[in-house]
Amino acid sequence: MNAPIKEGLPLPGHVVLCPFPEVDGCLAVGGIPLDRLAARVGSTPFYAYDRSVLTQHVKGLRAILPRAVDLHYAMKANPMPAIVQTMVGLVDGLDLASAGEMKVALDAGADPDEMSFAGPGKRPEELRQAVAAGVTINVESAAEIPHIVAAGEELGVRPRVAIRVNPDFELKSSGMKMSGGAKQFGIDAEVVPDVLRSLASLDIEFRGFHIYTGSQNLRAEAICDAQRQTVDLAIRLAADAPAAFPVLNIGGGFGVPYFPGDTPLELAPIVENLESLCEQTAKALPSAKVVIELGRYLVAHSGVYVARVVDRKISRGQVYLVTDGGMHHHLAASGNFGQVIRKNYPVVSGTRFAEPADETASVVGPLCTPLDLLGDKVQLPHMEVGDLVCVLMSGAYGYTSSPLQFLSHPAPAQVLV
Ligand SMILES: *Cc1c(COP(=O)(O)O)cnc(C)c1O
Repeated sequence: MNAPIKEGLPLPGHVVLCPFPEVDGCLAVGGIPLDRLAARVGSTPFYAYDRSVLTQHVKGLRAILPRAVDLHYAMKANPMPAIVQTMVGLVDGLDLASAGEMKVALDAGADPDEMSFAGPGKRPEELRQAVAAGVTINVESAAEIPHIVAAGEELGVRPRVAIRVNPDFELKSSGMKMSGGAKQFGIDAEVVPDVLRSLASLDIEFRGFHIYTGSQNLRAEAICDAQRQTVDLAIRLAADAPAAFPVLNIGGGFGVPYFPGDTPLELAPIVENLESLCEQTAKALPSAKVVIELGRYLVAHSGVYVARVVDRKISRGQVYLVTDGGMHHHLAASGNFGQVIRKNYPVVSGTRFAEPADETASVVGPLCTPLDLLGDKVQLPHMEVGDLVCVLMSGAYGYTSSPLQFLSHPAPAQVLV
């Protein structure tokens, strides 16, 4: 799907794919060399997302997925309005995690019929907003139901309700497990039949099931295995459903390679598995379409985080490139967003993209904490004050997942180019 990273580029051990070409010696986003783009943005640091990389990637995935599968975008990976607007033209629906995301989705022109709202702890006001918008609410707790029904009665709208199930199995080898055992997500599978029976007497439209088992998985076999168990579970649970239903959301979890040693997810076995699961669903639940919801897989590699070197210092023989950006803007790249062992995101020189990576340097930010590390002893060309450093794979869980206020530096800009 993407051209492999340029030969000679300094990513020892990384199998990360760099979709950005070199123009005039610089990494280029949206065809614009980074020094020029930085001038256009007017300040550093910033996030830059490449519209054409994003579009081609999502279209490429669509083209190989079975036609019977609907592809949804999980907005929390990157809710920048311009990204969401682009995504609306590329995917079949959006998955929201808050009323705030719902606003962005509706502003972007997304169809509420193809939106679902998941997440624990939805407040009554948020549920009421979702009912008013006609968005499907993925119920995570039986306690949400009376609020939804009350909002529907008050507004004269029939609420759309799906049940998020916490299955009794997990997605193995996932970066984040979100099912199996005790969880704050979804309703435990063994309790779901009772909840379904309780829906029969309520004035709601039953939309189906949402079963999400985990995130950031690079093992196709683990994903296929969880998907098979998910469909089997949904078919069993459907026996107690109050009506035939239109949606079977089997989750996602497709991971992306961030770190040295990560290998990209193999899609072929997943596509094959989805084909057979669509056939099984068509027989057992003929009204239901299979939906998968992906976040990072759709957006991660189309984004770079760009920071400028403000100091180059040597401490006891080790080179430090001190930049104007850091963990406050990109918590994940600093290793503090759920990683157990800190590993480097792929880091390249944006302004010396074509030069050999013949120096070992640590890229740090301006915060007074050793946690503020964007690259620990990475191979880079010799860089000077004024050069631009790029953290690749930054299109997901960057800007909105970072403690932007920490140390009171300005927030970075975001551009879709
Ligand atoms: C976070 C989340 C996603 C997106 O996860 P990615 O790893 O970005 O694909 C999808 N669905 C649900 C329910 C989530 O909580």
